[in-house]
Amino acid sequence: MKGAELIFAPLGGCREIGMNLNAYGYGPPEDRRWIVVDVGVTFGDDSTPGVDLIMPDPVYLESFADQIEAIILTHAHEDHIGAIGWLWPRLRAPIYATPFTAYLVAEKLRERGLDDAPLHIMQLREKRTFGPFEIEMVTLTHSIPEPNGLAIRTPLGLILHTGDWKIDPDPIIGEDFDQAKIEELGREGILAMVCDSTNVFEEGEAGSEGMAREALRRAVAEQTGRVAITSFASNVARVQSSCEAARANDRSVCLVGRSMLRIVGAAQSVGLLKGFDFIDPADAADLPPQHVLYLCTGSQGEPNAALARIARGDHPSVKLGEDDTVIFSSRVIPGNERAISEIQNTLAERNIKLVTARQFDIHVSGHPCRDELRRMYMWARPQIAVPVHGERRHIMEHARFAKSLQVPFAITPDNGHVIRLAPGPVALIDEVPVGRLHVDGEVLTSDKAGGMWERRKMAYNGHLAVSVVIAKGKIEDGPVVVARGFSEPDGRPADESMEPIDEAAEGALAGLKRGDFGDDEKIEKALTKAVRRAAELQFGKRPLVDVTIHRI
Ligand SMILES: [Zn+2]
Ligand SMILES: [Zn+2]
Repeated sequence: MKGAELIFAPLGGCREIGMNLNAYGYGPPEDRRWIVVDVGVTFGDDSTPGVDLIMPDPVYLESFADQIEAIILTHAHEDHIGAIGWLWPRLRAPIYATPFTAYLVAEKLRERGLDDAPLHIMQLREKRTFGPFEIEMVTLTHSIPEPNGLAIRTPLGLILHTGDWKIDPDPIIGEDFDQAKIEELGREGILAMVCDSTNVFEEGEAGSEGMAREALRRAVAEQTGRVAITSFASNVARVQSSCEAARANDRSVCLVGRSMLRIVGAAQSVGLLKGFDFIDPADAADLPPQHVLYLCTGSQGEPNAALARIARGDHPSVKLGEDDTVIFSSRVIPGNERAISEIQNTLAERNIKLVTARQFDIHVSGHPCRDELRRMYMWARPQIAVPVHGERRHIMEHARFAKSLQVPFAITPDNGHVIRLAPGPVALIDEVPVGRLHVDGEVLTSDKAGGMWERRKMAYNGHLAVSVVIAKGKIEDGPVVVARGFSEPDGRPADESMEPIDEAAEGALAGLKRGDFGDDEKIEKALTKAVRRAAELQFGKRPLVDVTIHRI
């Protein structure tokens, strides 16, 4: 095609480990066709009070949504599929995923009332053509069933989009890492490899699920009371290892937590976890403690998940006590340290034993460490290394590392970069607007929205509401100041400490000229300035101030 270019445009995942959203374009600028790979979320933190889910703003893609041939999802982790229910209405292209992923995506679409969204199943290793793109699913190993890399063939070259992967010689469930296919693609000639950067700072290898299975079996064997294992529900291999550890130690397994039940349902729908039975919590409670193993959600300290409730002793059907053990078969995701230690402290105080990955090798990462990256580059031999799935430091280091492995070109893509992979040398040809969208209750809104600024301001500095009634150019009533978020030293909500602030409001009105009482803006300005200054003197805080003027 005359003037055709091959484009890579990441909109999320190149500044964070999370909210992956990638677009590939082919064609001349005026007539390009696109595919979108992954539509994920990331999670809120202390800087986003009230917001749990965050996703990339797809505004760039929306401008040519009718040119998107397909949305292809590599695997079912939230950072790859979590935004599909929220963003599909803006993109409206058919969705493709392998069976396990599709099962969970269908649920997400249903939750958002999008039962009619076109969702198609692609089988492992299947090849399909979408406009100028031929997509072939490449089976890799990761920490969830059916992790797929994508071989993306175009008239201007072949791209290997790895998705999340590691080289697991014993993945327990699913198929083995398809090294032969990667080598075959390498021989065919890979123009660019778009690759996972998560563990680029880790030497060695991620380790195998088989290793975690052995460690879990040993850890469970040492326990005498009830055992609760907590891990990511989506790690079905780990779920199976936990079940095997239970079986080897004559324990029955009880699943606790909504997402544990959901994922096990998804796994069984694709023929995984066959031959394992689960008992319900009522039956588990009747068994002698040494014959029970709970498998529960909440390894990251989520306050409403099963483990937190068990720790607090307010889970309706699962009780743990002295001589019982909680095994954390998981890692601490940065940002969750405090929530996790809170749960561990609560458990410890109740004399419940803790077992973590420090005592046993009961957790392995799902992402490639440097030895695995080395091997991947050796097999794939791409012309261009395109690191993604990382914070800036991961992406910069991955590019350096790839160059050290004799990859001719390595770039450091950022969210919003529009990169021409071919023809000619790889080049940054445009930077497009990107941002983050917050799921704030039922509203999807920009992270720059004024509401979040105000909420933060109120959360950290408190709020003052000042009202005054004016009639015929004179103060009829007020000013009245109502404070939120301030306390007396003895813990009561602010009361007598408000006196200087009340006085400041009165003083501000007294300082106005008679003619100023017709000017709302002047009154508002004077009151805001005065009470904020007084609050700063009294409390050391600069609160959000609202002034209401009633005229009668
Ligand atoms: Zn993943
Ligand atoms: Zn991921």
